[in-house]
Order: sequence, then C-alpha cells, then structure tokens
Amino acid sequence: MGIVLSNGKTIDVDCLSCAITVGLIEPDGGVIIETEYLHAHQDVANPLKGLVILASKRHITCFDELTEEEKIDYINLLTKIRQAQRNVLNIEYVNYFYNEDTTQHFHTWMVPRYDWMYQFGRSVESVRPILLHSSTLER
Ligand SMILES: [Zn+2]
Repeated sequence: MGIVLSNGKTIDVDCLSCAITVGLIEPDGGVIIETEYLHAHQDVANPLKGLVILASKRHITCFDELTEEEKIDYINLLTKIRQAQRNVLNIEYVNYFYNEDTTQHFHTWMVPRYDWMYQFGRSVESVRPILLHSSTLER
C-alpha cells in the first residue's frame, strides 16, 4: 500500500499505524505524547494544525479489543490531548472520527473545528473537503 506523506514522499507499508507507532515513520512534529499502550502524532498526510491521531500500539482494529488498561489509558490520554488543544491552541471544538474498517489499526482522529471549516458544513461529509483544503494551506 502506498501512502503519500505531507513532505511529498511516498512510502509502502502494510499498516501505517504500526509503522508510526514503532518509529519506522516519523510524522512531522514527531511523537506528540506516548504511553505504554498509545501513541499520539500529527497525521502524516494532513498538516492541519492541532489535528492529532491517537493510535494504539497493538495491531488491533475494534474498540472491544482494547484491554481494561488500554481503555483507561485511552480515555485519559484523549482528554489530556483535548485539554492541550484548548489551552495551547485555543481550539473550542473538536470532531472525533474512528473507523474500524480501515487498512490501518486502531486510531482516533481528533480534528479541530476552525471557523474557515464551516463553509464546508458541519456534517461528517465536510471532513474530506476540509482535509483536502487544509493540505493547500501554508504551514
Ligand atoms: Zn498495525
């Protein structure tokens, strides 16, 4: 599977989440925060400021595959990152996306809602044009 990175390079990996969480691929900005079970990083394809991907370190796909320890770690880290988005970047609202049917493994998108995004609407369908638009913005 080929993945185009934000620096324009294309890489071939079986599971992007595995490649990132073991450090094979370093996303722009590197690791945001990491725990025993989880790994948070900027998306490799979308340079949108404040967009955080929170991935498990284990190669699992479904929510109900998380262990008790992972569940607790997940909600604690998710809220910690959310708080940082508010305090550091002044992000008022965040959209959360998580698909189980992905070629990668367990990861949650934390997508900040900026004012310019509302031209694309508020629904889940607005996310793709927003991310496409964000890749054209200056970094
Ligand atoms: Zn994986």
